[in-house]
Amino acid sequence: MTSSSSFDGVRVAVTGASRGIGLGVARGFARAGARVLLTARGEADLAAAAAALRAEGGDVQHAALDVSTGAGCARLAQAATDLLGGLDVLCANAGIFPKAELATMTEADLDEVLAVNVKGTVLAVAACAPLLGASGRGRVVLTSSITGPVTGDAGWSHYGASKAAQLGFMRTAALELAPQGVTVNAVLPGNVLTEGLRDLGAEYLDTMAAAVPLGRLGSVDDIAAAALFLASEGAGYITGQSLVVDGGQVLPEG
Ligand code: NAP
Repeated sequence: MTSSSSFDGVRVAVTGASRGIGLGVARGFARAGARVLLTARGEADLAAAAAALRAEGGDVQHAALDVSTGAGCARLAQAATDLLGGLDVLCANAGIFPKAELATMTEADLDEVLAVNVKGTVLAVAACAPLLGASGRGRVVLTSSITGPVTGDAGWSHYGASKAAQLGFMRTAALELAPQGVTVNAVLPGNVLTEGLRDLGAEYLDTMAAAVPLGRLGSVDDIAAAALFLASEGAGYITGQSLVVDGGQVLPEG
């Protein structure tokens, strides 16, 4: 893993950073000395998240935007230019996971998930690519999932499709951006203990944790550690790859 000083002054944008994994990733970069831009749609939650990281000593800015539109992603690149003076690392993390079984899934359900998870990833990377190319150490870290690329989960077929699509996009984006020295990789989390998951209650969480060989749910810090590694100088020869971070959840054969 990287030493904290290697991120001093590195300019990082994290989408979906007002809570959950994105906030954990942003906190990891801020603690490591990076200058961090937090983005999400909701201004109030975002401002509160940025204030919390600043109170911990982080060099943090924020900009409210929606990654599911081209205009929102243009705003992401503009905010990185205006607030950070450019961009070295993009963590395309914003994502949604509403449940919808095939029998009742509407076209609108499908469109919504694909718009945020797939379009939001592609448009964010495309908008930021010129800045990352100019950086000289450009890095893209996508937040995919084990659901879709590795496993299935009843009720989340559209979500699984979107998370697998991110990886298909990643491989070609890695090729297209390689001449500019930009790497594109993905972290595939298992079940991560976020605010949303905590609402399910202790008993349910204990059952989930028991299914993980390492005996616990993932933390946002586990995902942040993987993102920092893929964004580090030391990972500069790794591109187009997926890193599963799941405590061994996908390993059992039975
Ligand atoms: P979360 O707690 O619901 O947070 C999602 C974040 O994304 C929020 O900041 C949200 O803020 C933002 N967001 C949602 N739609 C957006 C949009 N259209 N434009 C910009 N920002 C948007 O979710 P999470 O559990 O941390 O998940 C984050 C990522 O990890 C997702 O890509 C998810 O698929 C992936 N993942 C999560 C788990 C897990 O166990 N939690 C496991 C595997 C993969 P606003 O609503 O204010 O925009």
